[in-house]
Amino acid sequence: MNLGIRRKLRKWLLQGSNVYCPCCNKHAATFLPFGKQVRFNALCPFCGSLERHRLLWLFLFSREKKLINNGAKLLHVAPERVFFKKFRREKQIEYFPVDKFTPGHHYPRGTQEMDILNISYQDNFFDSILCSHVLEHVDNDMQAMKELYRVLKPAGWAILQSPIDYSKPDTFEDSSITAPEEREKYFGQYDHVRFYGRDYPQRLMQAGFKVESIDFGNTFSNEEHKQFGLDRNDGIIYFCTK
Ligand SMILES: [Zn+2]
Repeated sequence: MNLGIRRKLRKWLLQGSNVYCPCCNKHAATFLPFGKQVRFNALCPFCGSLERHRLLWLFLFSREKKLINNGAKLLHVAPERVFFKKFRREKQIEYFPVDKFTPGHHYPRGTQEMDILNISYQDNFFDSILCSHVLEHVDNDMQAMKELYRVLKPAGWAILQSPIDYSKPDTFEDSSITAPEEREKYFGQYDHVRFYGRDYPQRLMQAGFKVESIDFGNTFSNEEHKQFGLDRNDGIIYFCTK
């Protein structure tokens, strides 16, 4: 997009106040369309947050409850920029952003290279874990879940989000599907290795977690869904404890 158009768009977006992004604390006329199958009112024009980031943000920091407590050791797998910036500023928590570095991906500076199949921390180390839209990329997701379980403190919690096809009871995976275009067709994205179904929480339980499927999206009115730019079909938070 050329600079003149971009400036005009920004000015127009800023004049409106129909939507509000909790991640960057800004109002706008609308969120922008996003995705191959285009979703409207999805992308924050200022911080780049999507529906799922705003939902998680509201869950973590909203209203009466603040889940990230002072002194907490927080493991953040594949840190989203909007969260990364916030957590780095919080001097009261010990923040551990980690990612498996792959070519072509850019991680926030300060992220530690780590494979979640082999987490280099002792058992029962972290108070909280955030891992969103990662497991669907991992061949051996059970091993990854078990590792996350291992490093979580007995009194801690983990929020483990993945894309889910709620129309299907069972997860679909097939290791013979490896071509990017085939993966896109069957798993929803070129680098996904499965599409989770409604059995997703059972899989987390198999790894040892207690799982509470919290229908947090449903606690918002239709107006609030529009205002915060949330996705009606993706409102469940998988809140896991040990
Ligand atoms: Zn924003």
